[in-house]
Amino acid sequence: MRKRAAPRSVHLGVGAGSKASEGPVGFDFGAEHGAVEEAPLRRALLRLMPGARRQALLGAVRGVRYRGDLAECPCCGSTFSRFLPHRGRSHAKCPGCGALERHRLLWLFLERQTDLFERPGAMLHIGPEYGLLRQLSRIEGLSYVTGDVDSALASYELDVMDLPFGVGSFDFLICNHVLEHVEDDRRALAEIHRVVKPGGWAILMSPIDHRRESTLEDSAVLTPRDRHRVFGQGDHLRLYGRDYRDRLVEAGFAVRADRYLEGFDEGSIRRLGLRREQDNAFGVEEIFFCVKPEQ
Ligand SMILES: [Zn+2]
Repeated sequence: MRKRAAPRSVHLGVGAGSKASEGPVGFDFGAEHGAVEEAPLRRALLRLMPGARRQALLGAVRGVRYRGDLAECPCCGSTFSRFLPHRGRSHAKCPGCGALERHRLLWLFLERQTDLFERPGAMLHIGPEYGLLRQLSRIEGLSYVTGDVDSALASYELDVMDLPFGVGSFDFLICNHVLEHVEDDRRALAEIHRVVKPGGWAILMSPIDHRRESTLEDSAVLTPRDRHRVFGQGDHLRLYGRDYRDRLVEAGFAVRADRYLEGFDEGSIRRLGLRREQDNAFGVEEIFFCVKPEQ
């Protein structure tokens, strides 16, 4: 484990997202799935300001620019005239905190469907997303640790296939849209299972092609161009199919694939900027809620 030499305060949400699915190192929040065009203002900010302060400033500027009451972000608790487009999707990214549709859905799930706020505990957040990190780091009684292979947002540099924590270190664990980037995802899942306490839970979401019965993997597909063609993104190492859940079960978890979005009416989906099934090429995003059995 390598704790960062100058650890950033997660309470300030310092840093920039760099999980592969969140954009390259040092990039601005919400830069999901690769580089986005850098506006002159952002280029200047990138040079002048470190991660989270820059994000907070950008959020504040955008918050003014998009002030209104038609869109509501549960992650930052603010309202806006609309959400920003993101990677071809309209109404996707929060102007204030950069949260995307699935981050907002997950935050609502955490608030309403889990015991996260009801008991003190420890959480490991692997590949932290700024919009979620910002809120999770503020939960009273939660010992919150973030880690990533290379992210200014994370407090620990770590390899998910070799986690630097003891058995049963965490009551809660979040690791979303990471496993499809990892060389040996079964080893990563074994590690995740190891560090979660018996009775604790992990939320492990990944992009899944529900049209596929089994996961597509091919170690001969090496170049970003080929990976994009075969797996859907240049830094993905596999394309999960409907057997994704089986890998979580094999690791030892009791798994509930929660289609939480289905409980929302059209008005709420629009206002909260969630993604309906017909908007998502891969089908509705399921929240994989994985409990480590007591024994
Ligand atoms: Zn927000």
